[in-house]
Amino acid sequence: MTTTADAPRTISTRLEHLEGIGPTRAKHFKHLAVETLADLVEYFPRTYQFESSEQTIDTFVADRIETARGTICAVDYITGRGRARFEATLDDGTAKLALVWFNAQYLRSKIYPGMTIRVQGRVKMFRNMPQMANPKWQVVAEDTPRVEEEKFRPIYPASTSLSSDVIARVVEANLDAALQPIDEWFAPELLKKRHLISRRDAYRWIHRPANMNEAMRARRRIVYDELMLLQLGLGMSKRLRSGRLTAPVMRIDKTLDERIRRRFPFEMTIAQQNASYEIVRDLQSGQPMNRLLQGDVGSGKTVVALYAMLLAVANKMQAAILAPTEVLAEQHYLTLSSFLKDSSVSIELLTSRTKRESRNSIQKHVASGKVHLAVGTQALIQEDVEFANLGLVVADEQHKLGVRQRETLKGKGLMPHYLVMTATPIPRTLALSYFADFDISIINELPPGRQPIETRWLHADQSAKAYDFLRKQIAAGRQAYIVLPQIHDDGIDDVKSVTKEFEKLSKGPLNGLRLAPLHGQMTTDEKHETMTNFRAGKIDVLVATTVIEVGIDVANATVMLIDNADRFGLSQLHQLRGRVGRGSEKSYCILLGDPQTETGEARLKAMTHTSDGFEIAEMDLKLRGPGQFFGTRQHGLPEFKMADITSELALLQLAREDAVELLRDDANLKSPEHRPLRAALLKQFGDTLQLAQVG
Ligand code: ADP
Ligand code: MG
Repeated sequence: MTTTADAPRTISTRLEHLEGIGPTRAKHFKHLAVETLADLVEYFPRTYQFESSEQTIDTFVADRIETARGTICAVDYITGRGRARFEATLDDGTAKLALVWFNAQYLRSKIYPGMTIRVQGRVKMFRNMPQMANPKWQVVAEDTPRVEEEKFRPIYPASTSLSSDVIARVVEANLDAALQPIDEWFAPELLKKRHLISRRDAYRWIHRPANMNEAMRARRRIVYDELMLLQLGLGMSKRLRSGRLTAPVMRIDKTLDERIRRRFPFEMTIAQQNASYEIVRDLQSGQPMNRLLQGDVGSGKTVVALYAMLLAVANKMQAAILAPTEVLAEQHYLTLSSFLKDSSVSIELLTSRTKRESRNSIQKHVASGKVHLAVGTQALIQEDVEFANLGLVVADEQHKLGVRQRETLKGKGLMPHYLVMTATPIPRTLALSYFADFDISIINELPPGRQPIETRWLHADQSAKAYDFLRKQIAAGRQAYIVLPQIHDDGIDDVKSVTKEFEKLSKGPLNGLRLAPLHGQMTTDEKHETMTNFRAGKIDVLVATTVIEVGIDVANATVMLIDNADRFGLSQLHQLRGRVGRGSEKSYCILLGDPQTETGEARLKAMTHTSDGFEIAEMDLKLRGPGQFFGTRQHGLPEFKMADITSELALLQLAREDAVELLRDDANLKSPEHRPLRAALLKQFGDTLQLAQVG
């Protein structure tokens, strides 16, 4: 270390005590969640820029990346034959350089004769004149210093008050001090086997690489660490659960199996039977089930869950099913009640709508064990509901139910078995990471007799066609949904809203039909009444927000019209489409919209091309990235700083293998050489994965 009078820096040294940072700048860094030296080294560059030193054009060598500065002396925009392109000529006094940018009409207003710019790109000789295609360029002022040396420059995610350059300077000034305390986590043999550089080198090179190769190797090491940490965390948490925790043992035989199945008005599909079988095995095991039941919308997950719940009841235990919304809880309650008509199983619904007196009595009966099946929303868990003997918890749509809430429920009484249902198919990379501590059952088959949903994409100016079609379906006795991106118009853009469209359609294109709005700002009673009327066929068209995204099951609804469809995510569109096609009548999904972006267009195209949930999910993941895809924050698992798990499958698998092996040798990471690793793990996952118990 240097011999300054300063107190020695540690990774937790706060930014305001660092080189080149005053209180104001420290505040700006705080907005980027950078508060300590440790945060600073973990603030990674977004990309890198190669900056070659400026040369005069007459010395340019073909095929090299060169940099020049000069004055624009001519511009032209060329359409006609070939690709549209913007051309300019740069003169630096020694020679002329031809510049061309393809499909860059916007440059017409940006680059004009007389201005001085710096350009960088690969040089080609064209008719004896040097040329660059799609060069990087920037305007330079007279006094901008020339770039004198070749540099590989990190570009940091900037904020309005902190430019990438400023961040780079601060990082550069403090990097050596920050690297000092970075310890190695893994044994040299492992690093060698996986061709990984040391942690300290990784952090040095990620900020200060000499070339792209160093940057890539640094990145690979950091990504490996992130994935490894998660795998270790999940591995330890799984072992903790299976090692120490016991759950009620449920028994089943042929008679009981048949008795349960007789409750269903149909045969279970093979896929449903397989899933039930896997669940039954868990319930018999004595260890708490942690299982994810995954199946596309309409694949019949509820029946499988009910099978498990009835098994619990037959074993003199209670079961609870938790839904993310009131509407969905009511839906489940109705479905389950109809399956259980004339049975001795007692089922109760508990939501915030439940009146105080009946809530009190329901709670009492849940506590005494008189209620066998409890259906509800978060309210069921949050308030002081005590179960007499809770054996199984089913959560619908896990990605809307937080980890914490799930944990509170677990804390009540014995460790109940846990089944999570999700209609969001999980791409393999995500399943291997976020759900690594779950066993997974997949229902990959729809119940028989379903007709594929026909999906059409129409432009906004074809809406009349859509409404005509909808009218015809309603004349034939069917019902329809119209979904819009927002409740009210904010007037800022021309995004449509439920309230405006409801009015407009009632007076205009859908005049004479029975329309009703449905959205999240209505009271629960209003929503309930609307849904009840829709189910009873007293409403033809629901004009709604995505409140109907999950779980609504009205078989007579055959049209899903999504307006401003480009405003919705792909998985969301797919979920919405899943609200129709639930009966034997042919169903239709109409997407109305003029996408403004390529990804918007890609989403609508994907919808018309496939109805395979897995394909949709993979596509969505590609278009959006994993963070938003799953709302990872709700899982309590951190988002990766660096890893992009959509493309990191190979490394993820290595990390998984390595984590398993490492834990086999040192299950609690107690050995001295694992101390830094263990500390990092507890810091990151101590709460969310409850690793604190490791001691
Ligand atoms: P998911 O929750 O997976 O979207 P549901 O459990 O709501 O699907 O089932 C969708 C519809 O299919 C329901 O109306 C249900 O009664 C029906 N269903 C489920 N399983 C079968 C089956 N094996 N045969 C016929 N219909 C089924
Ligand atoms: Mg469902």
